[in-house]
Amino acid sequence: MSMNFSRIEQCLVSDIEQNGPLPIARFMEIVLGHPEYGYYMRQDPFGVDGDFTTAPEISQMFGEMIGLWLADIWMQFGQPEEFILLECGPGRGTMMADILRVTRNIRGFHDALDVHLLETSPVLRSKQEAALKDCRVSWHESLESVSGGVPVFIIANEFFDALPVRQFQFDGQKWQERKIEFRDGFQWLLEDIDFDPADAMNLPIPTSNEVLEISGERDGFANEMARIIKRDKGAALIIDYGYLKPGYGDTLQALYKHKHVETLSHIGEADLTAHVNFARLNDIFDRQGLDIMGMNTQGGFLKNLGIQVHASKLLQKAGEQQGEDIQNALHRLTHSDEMGTLFKVTGVSYGAKINPAGF
Ligand code: SAH
Repeated sequence: MSMNFSRIEQCLVSDIEQNGPLPIARFMEIVLGHPEYGYYMRQDPFGVDGDFTTAPEISQMFGEMIGLWLADIWMQFGQPEEFILLECGPGRGTMMADILRVTRNIRGFHDALDVHLLETSPVLRSKQEAALKDCRVSWHESLESVSGGVPVFIIANEFFDALPVRQFQFDGQKWQERKIEFRDGFQWLLEDIDFDPADAMNLPIPTSNEVLEISGERDGFANEMARIIKRDKGAALIIDYGYLKPGYGDTLQALYKHKHVETLSHIGEADLTAHVNFARLNDIFDRQGLDIMGMNTQGGFLKNLGIQVHASKLLQKAGEQQGEDIQNALHRLTHSDEMGTLFKVTGVSYGAKINPAGF
């Protein structure tokens, strides 16, 4: 093989040699999560110099609203004296830092909370450690090690979209799986399958070239979240780009330095994500017996929580430049031309009768 291939490309090639063409899920798993050469393992992908920006990185207001939401849920749960606050995929730790700052003066909240972070990337773990240096933090590789006994409140912003999906394409008569093979270079391939990926999904009859995305990893993760919440009581809030009704569509995207690139053109250098099927997540939670708080757009959720009032309070104390930044951030987080509609929110709970804000 040519010397010009990166380490991650070499890993992909040897996987293909052993197991045949890669389902997209396997491709994403290796490219993003390979323990040594994976995209998230090697770098901090956020910000102007990175590949993408997330809501907590746009403005402290985002994490602050989530913090106030959490404090309200904690109160409605009867202010448990001990609880686990678990964030999945905390990135730079910015959202958790904002949550902890805004809840500092809520009596009893900080004494009760125990911060747990689910993170596989060593680079990002060290960023999180720095961002949360005044706080005791436990890290986890998977949900399995999150131990029981006290209520657990889980938050996940732009986490599910990084978990791998498979894609199927309808050729007019049957479904085939989109895979990646290696011949001179990485190339797309459609492979026949011997099952119906749309089975029992209640979708309309597909037209030619329709794409269906399915994620065993996301389903598995949601099931595991539900198991923990049912075991220990608690709640979860999931925010991500995605769709509220099940449907077709190719949503796989590669982002490199804030630009969309072809999936196979910047392997290992671009972030890979696919939109989250919120209807499916809620189905899973519902089947497990959790209470569904509801679904909303990010813009609707933040406005219901009072982000405009929060912004105007910050504006009163701000200088001219800061004021402009706050206005811009508010627009980016909530407006339908920006993140307001594309991003969705779902919340679930178990073990307390509550009336959650935001939905
Ligand atoms: N929530 C942050 C970061 C989003 S990026 C923000 O909004 O800014 C996705 C995060 O999930 C990163 O921290 C990444 O390292 C982590 N991650 C991705 N796949 C993961 C997995 N399988 N297990 C644990 N963490 C994962």
